[in-house]
Amino acid sequence: MVDFLLTPRQEELRSIAKKFAIEVMIPSAEKADREPDPAKSFDWNVVREGSRLGLRTLTIPKEFGGEGANVETAAMIGEQLAYGDLGMAVAFDQTWKILTAVCRVANDAQRKRWLPLIVEDDTCLMGICSTEPTAGSENILPYQEPGKGMQMRAEKKGDVWVLNGTKRYISNGGLAKYYMVRTRNDPDGPLRTSLTSFMVSADAPGFEVTEVWDKLGQRCVQNGTLQFTNVEVPDSDRVGEVGNAAQIGTEFLLGYGSNIQAGATVLGVAQRAYDLSVQYAFEREQAGGPIINHQIQRTRLARMAMQITAARAYIMQSAWSAGRPDQDPMHASLCKVFASEVAVHVCQQALELWAAAGYMRKNPLEKLIRDAQSFLHSDGTNDVLALKAGNYLMKPDPSDLVYSKRAAEAAAGR
Ligand SMILES: Cc1cc2nc3c(=O)[nH]c(=O)nc-3n(C[C@H](O)[C@H](O)[C@H](O)COP(=O)(O)OP(=O)(O)OC[C@H]3O[C@@H](n4cnc5c(N)ncnc54)[C@H](O)[C@@H]3O)c2cc1C
Repeated sequence: MVDFLLTPRQEELRSIAKKFAIEVMIPSAEKADREPDPAKSFDWNVVREGSRLGLRTLTIPKEFGGEGANVETAAMIGEQLAYGDLGMAVAFDQTWKILTAVCRVANDAQRKRWLPLIVEDDTCLMGICSTEPTAGSENILPYQEPGKGMQMRAEKKGDVWVLNGTKRYISNGGLAKYYMVRTRNDPDGPLRTSLTSFMVSADAPGFEVTEVWDKLGQRCVQNGTLQFTNVEVPDSDRVGEVGNAAQIGTEFLLGYGSNIQAGATVLGVAQRAYDLSVQYAFEREQAGGPIINHQIQRTRLARMAMQITAARAYIMQSAWSAGRPDQDPMHASLCKVFASEVAVHVCQQALELWAAAGYMRKNPLEKLIRDAQSFLHSDGTNDVLALKAGNYLMKPDPSDLVYSKRAAEAAAGR
C-alpha cells in the first residue's frame, strides 16, 4: 500500500530545500540565465551553500556522512530545488542519482575510497556519460544490433583500461569532478553484453571538455562535450563487472530512479509557473475586477492544479516502488514522460493567463517555459521512453479473469 505521509525528517528537508530554492537559487538563477557565455553561467556559491545544508550528498549512506535518502526523498527534494531553478537542481540531482548507482554497484573498497572524498569536498559534483555524437536514443532503448550504439572504446592493457571516444550533452560536463563513463569493451557485440562502466576523474590526463553547449533552457547548469584521448583508468576504478554496464544503465533509469527524479524536478518548474499565475490572477484587473473572477481563468488554474497534483502522485508512487521486486518498469519511465508533458502544458497555460506580460523577458515565466522543454528529451526522449514502456506489454492470457471472450469474438468479426 502506498503511503505518502512524510516523516518528520522528510518534512524538515523539504522546508530546508524550499527556503534555499527561493532565497538563494532564484536570485542567482535570474542573473545566471542571462549570461551569454554558457561556460560562465554556473554559480558555485549555490553548490557550496547547498552542500553545507546537506543537499549535495543527499543519497550517500549515513555511515559515510550523507543523508541516506531514498528515491522518494530525492524526488521530493529535487522538485523543491527545481522550484528555484531547474538547471541548478539538475547539478544536485545528477550527483544524487550517480551516487545512488555508485553506492549500490561499487564494491566496498571503492565506496571507502570514493565516498569520503566526495563528502568532504563541497564542490564535488558528478556526471554520467552515455550519449555520443552518433548514438543517443540507441543507448536508451538499447538498440541490440551488433556493433551499433555507443562507440567509445575501453581496451584493457595489463591492469589499466585505455579509454578513447567522445561523449556529448553531458549534464555537469565541465563542472563534475568525477564522471561515470559507459564504454564499449567489445566493439562488435550488442550493447546488452558489450559495455563496461568506469569512474573517471576530471583531472585524468587525456580528458578534455571541448565544448560547453549554449542551451535554450537549463542555462544555469553546464552540458559539455567530453573528449577522452588515451585516458588510462586502473581496473580498480571499473564500476561493476566487465560487460554489465547496460544492466546498470537499465537499473539507473528504473530502480535507481533516474527518470523518476527527472520527472520530479521538471514538476518544480510547473509548480512555480502555477504559483506565479495564481498571484497574477488575483492582482491583474480586467473588465471590472481581478481576472480570477472570470470563470475561464479560475477553471484554467484549477486544471493546472489538477495536472500538477496528478503528475506528482504518479512520480511519488513510482518513487515509492523504485527498487522493489514488484516495481512496474513501465511506470518508472512513463511518470517522467507524463510530468514533463504536464510541465510544458502548465507553462503554456500560464502564458495564456499572463498574456503579453508573460511573453516579456522581464517576467520569470519566459525562463520557466524554456526550462520545461528540456525534459521532453533529457534522460531519454519521451517518444523513446514511451516506446520502451510499450515493449513491456504482454499478450493477454485467455484464462485471465479480465480476458473478454466477447471482445475476442467481436475482433474476429463474429
Ligand atoms: C538538457 C539535457 C541534458 C542531458 N544530459 C545528459 C547526460 O547527463 N548524460 C548523457 O549521457 N546524455 C545526456 N543528454 C542526452 C540525452 O539523453 C539524449 O539527447 C537523448 O537520449 C536523445 O538522444 P539524441 O538527442 O541523440 O536524439 P536521437 O536519438 O538522435 O533522436 C532523434 C529523434 O528520433 C527519435 N527516435 C530515436 N530512436 C527512435 C526509435 N527507435 N523509434 C522512434 N523514434 C526514435 C527520438 O525520439 C527523437 O525524436 C542530455 C540531453 C539534454 C537535452
